[in-house]
Amino acid sequence: MTAKHEVNRAQFDEVMVPCYNPMEIIPVRGEGSRIWDQQDKEYIDFAGGIAVSCLGHCHPAMVKALTEQGNKLWHLSNVMTNEPALRLAKKLTEVSFAEKVFFANSGAEANEAALKLARRWAADVHGEEKSEIIAFKQGFHGRTFFTVTVGGQAAYSDGFGPKPGDVTHLPYNDVDALAAHISDKTCAIMMEPLQGEGGIVSPTPEFVQAVRELCDKHNALLIFDEVQTGNGRTGEFYAYQGLGITPDILSTAKSLGGGFPIGAMLTTTELAQHMKVGTHGSTYGGNPLACAVAEAVVDVIAQPETLAGVKQREALFRQGLETINAKYGLFEEIRGKGLLIGAALNEQWQGRARDVLVAAGKEGLMVLVAGANVVRFTPSLVITEDEINQGLARLDKAISTLV
Ligand SMILES: *Cc1c(COP(=O)(O)O)cnc(C)c1O
Repeated sequence: MTAKHEVNRAQFDEVMVPCYNPMEIIPVRGEGSRIWDQQDKEYIDFAGGIAVSCLGHCHPAMVKALTEQGNKLWHLSNVMTNEPALRLAKKLTEVSFAEKVFFANSGAEANEAALKLARRWAADVHGEEKSEIIAFKQGFHGRTFFTVTVGGQAAYSDGFGPKPGDVTHLPYNDVDALAAHISDKTCAIMMEPLQGEGGIVSPTPEFVQAVRELCDKHNALLIFDEVQTGNGRTGEFYAYQGLGITPDILSTAKSLGGGFPIGAMLTTTELAQHMKVGTHGSTYGGNPLACAVAEAVVDVIAQPETLAGVKQREALFRQGLETINAKYGLFEEIRGKGLLIGAALNEQWQGRARDVLVAAGKEGLMVLVAGANVVRFTPSLVITEDEINQGLARLDKAISTLV
């Protein structure tokens, strides 16, 4: 055994908390949209670390930012501010509606901050009884106890004792259900502007309009969880920019760091003032290394060519998936937006999304699932045409082994 093979998958079961069941392979390096495992087998990456590696692996701009900052200053805590955090916050206000930014380390933490801000604002401005959080079935907002409770899958939040209270779940895209339920006691609506984990489900234009109007009517805040949809994923910098409405609070993470852990909550000055000194915080939030990398990511993603490129790549994916479908007839629908794509399996293929993922892995292709019936693709936003074509050819081959 050489030094680099000293660890293997079997050791996962020995030393790791068993809340994951990782694949057999252990990747050791990546470049662009390619990954190599311990045996030097090559994979094309259509998963992007679950919509995180938006510039692929080891993008030169990110490596440069990380190494430059790594040689300067790693950490201070929020007892002091730092240059990368200030620059990144300024840029996030330039690419979005936001006037104020709070930095965290993950999507769940960004959402936790968003929910706490909404509750604090309501208590300050309207009184304690305005506390209801409305969220949607199949929604996903992270794994802290508050965020997982707001998420719309009880299976994830059950079994941990008493839950944070006053959270209501309604069906996504159901205007009537929302109109019938929302009241002046509603503090906020939290939603994804395209449900990711829940199966790649786009909101209808009527639903999005109604959500905004009903929030305004009942003095409730609208929180957009853009952890998966943000940072260019749908072809806009943030997905709300393609929906004709603006939220009051937005959470972002995943692609924001492109592979370095960071999350952020974006909001207005008016709302931000309710998070006074001492009301919330994070040791690592706004860490210089994380912010330096995220700044490099934002610089690349915010370029119009990058965002236009997402739409071009979406077209290539859709074409390729339709061609595969014409051959094997397994998809009912190719859905999603930009490079957040779901291929929903038809009647005969129900429950086989994981089979497709495993078969793809054998052919040297990483894909994701979103539930049992949707194969999900969240590749790098700058994946090359060549990588897309090769990956689709591998997917074709993988599916041919399943028919
Ligand atoms: C992944 C995800 C989260 C959780 O992000 P973490 O960084 O894992 O905490 C929250 N919301 C959405 C929509 C996500 O896709």
